[in-house]
Amino acid sequence: MNIHEHQAKALLKEFGAPVADGVAIFDAKEAMAAATALPGPVYVVKSQIHAGGRGKGRFKELGPDALGGVRLAKSIDEVVAFASEMLGNTLVTKQTGPAGKQVNRLYIEDGADIARELYLSVLVNRETGRVSFVASTEGGMDIEGVAARTPEKIHTIDIDPDAGVTKEDCDRLCDALALEGVARDDGHELFPLLYKAFWDKDMSLLEINPLVVTGKGHLAVLDAKVSFDNNALFRHPELQSLRDLSEEDEKEIEAGKYDLAYIALDGTIGCMVNGAGLAMATMDIIKLYGEKPANFLDVGGGATVEKVTAAFKIITSDPHVKGILVNIFGGIMRCDVIAEGVLQAVKEIGLNVPLVVRLEGTKVQEGQALIDNSDLNVISADDLDDAAQKIVAAVRKEG
Ligand code: GDP
Ligand code: MG
Repeated sequence: MNIHEHQAKALLKEFGAPVADGVAIFDAKEAMAAATALPGPVYVVKSQIHAGGRGKGRFKELGPDALGGVRLAKSIDEVVAFASEMLGNTLVTKQTGPAGKQVNRLYIEDGADIARELYLSVLVNRETGRVSFVASTEGGMDIEGVAARTPEKIHTIDIDPDAGVTKEDCDRLCDALALEGVARDDGHELFPLLYKAFWDKDMSLLEINPLVVTGKGHLAVLDAKVSFDNNALFRHPELQSLRDLSEEDEKEIEAGKYDLAYIALDGTIGCMVNGAGLAMATMDIIKLYGEKPANFLDVGGGATVEKVTAAFKIITSDPHVKGILVNIFGGIMRCDVIAEGVLQAVKEIGLNVPLVVRLEGTKVQEGQALIDNSDLNVISADDLDDAAQKIVAAVRKEG
């Protein structure tokens, strides 16, 4: 689960991190009061969307010459003007894709005086099996470019889970960020508390880009991106209210209600598969034959007819789906339950695209008979290879 910058900053503030004062608003009418509550004279008006690159992003409706998604305002009047221009419009950044994201909330923050912009993140390092800090003096708006062109400027420091963040770790991080004087002292306070926030809240990513050295030489968290490990969310009921459903894919929200492992993708072939491994293999083989999957979906082991029906409906509700491939290897899952679920869903919502079904394993005869005896127009397939070729051919014929 991802959260907004203003929520991430509020959370980090609870742990003691140096973040500026700010107010989140949902309506331009609130802009004046929000800015008045801040010290000024400089404010930052920040679009709150679950994507980075906002500073260099552009609003679709405002054209390429208008300012981006993070704006410096030099008066309260300017805050108000920016807020009414930004709210409700669509921000396109490197991370949103060309469709962009609608800006439904803004964060009005006290403007910082920036001497240097640094990069700092905490993440789960799969190579070393540790939580690591990633640090660079080259913070700001193009860390991907820095990583590609000058990887030696990016430092990774693993943390020993028994020891936690030690003084030596802090020194190495300070060196990696070239911190001096009071900023060094700030670093020794900041790094352990970021680690604690990451650990206590089961984050999978905590990224501060930029972490800044202010004009007075102190550290401040200027931007914050936080992702939580979904598998640990049950331990944190306090985080539930931070979820913003408008940032999530509707089909994924629906799938979550039925406890389906579903991820929306951008291809044309809808897939209903059981088992994550088989689902991955199915996606691979679709690509091998030249088309792209519209989703990853693992209906799981003991799925019920209701669950299968829901899964099929979610797939067909995607307008990009030009064909559906059902690929089931019945083990715990029974082929007749799958067939019933598919038939139930089609009865309720119809079927306007070709459907290839490959069933194998437990209750395969029963499942096949259900489909054969229905008036459903199904293309049967013998094995995975055959099934993939048939759905690719069918989708191309339609297209
Ligand atoms: P992102 O583009 O989505 O990563 O948004 P950021 O929050 O990182 O903001 C982008 C850039 O705006 C930062 O790298 C800063 O250069 C600038 N910026 C953000 N807040 C302030 C501020 O308080 N004062 C000044 N002078 N610049 C800011
Ligand atoms: Mg940033």
